[in-house]
Amino acid sequence: MDGSADEGPIAPNGIPWWELTVQPGTNKRFGQERRLAAWLWFNKDIDEIFTMNELRDALGPDIVGQSEHLNRRLRTLREVGWVIPSYKDDGSLKPDEYRLQARGARYWLDEDRKSYRRFKASARIRRKVMDRDGWRCVICGVASKESYPGEPGEEARLTVGHRVPQERLRTRGAADNIDNWRTECARCNEPVRDEIPDPDQYDEVLVQVRRLSRGSKQTMLSWLQRGERTRTELDRVYDQVRTLTHNERADIRTYLQNSSAGSS
Ligand SMILES: [Zn+2]
Repeated sequence: MDGSADEGPIAPNGIPWWELTVQPGTNKRFGQERRLAAWLWFNKDIDEIFTMNELRDALGPDIVGQSEHLNRRLRTLREVGWVIPSYKDDGSLKPDEYRLQARGARYWLDEDRKSYRRFKASARIRRKVMDRDGWRCVICGVASKESYPGEPGEEARLTVGHRVPQERLRTRGAADNIDNWRTECARCNEPVRDEIPDPDQYDEVLVQVRRLSRGSKQTMLSWLQRGERTRTELDRVYDQVRTLTHNERADIRTYLQNSSAGSS
């Protein structure tokens, strides 16, 4: 393959990279992420907004599919340095809009993907961060192996996510600073979730929000503003009690039984 041909939008076989279905000179499939990356690279400026419909027109419904399908593709690009916020990350965007904030690896050229590898927290950092956060997702509050509300089958898995953008973690030492990380469950760690507005559900939720006490409303507002669920002193102590041995927990239970009997 001629090196200079790599630089432009047209693949060696004369077709734009984003229209390829087979890798030039081979019979290997040309991946959808590669087509998406090439289209964005050559058709969008930095800070330009694109929509799902635009992608559908340009790349075809097989790439874009449902939003969940597209989000999986975008996630792959984000892992190699692309910064593509959605409305969930940026309140100025509409639900079907995305912004090309930074380009990453030229995925269609197999370019140096390693240097763009997502920063992972070291085992030491993971431990420290999870200890600090009480081994719970700071966003939704679920603990490791707990099931999600209303979904008894599914156990939550904890991971650590970064509070600061990946680019900034690249600076020396930043990835070692535990303040830059937080405990998240695998579900909350998804950068973008598939979300189809459901007005009925909204109405039901709103009714329940309205019913909350003034204090609970304030607490929920602060959670929504922070994007994290803060835990009360009671929650924190309960978490610590749960780490005790069976016998120790039994002792605490006896203590509580006696002390609540005494105070009534
Ligand atoms: Zn969570």
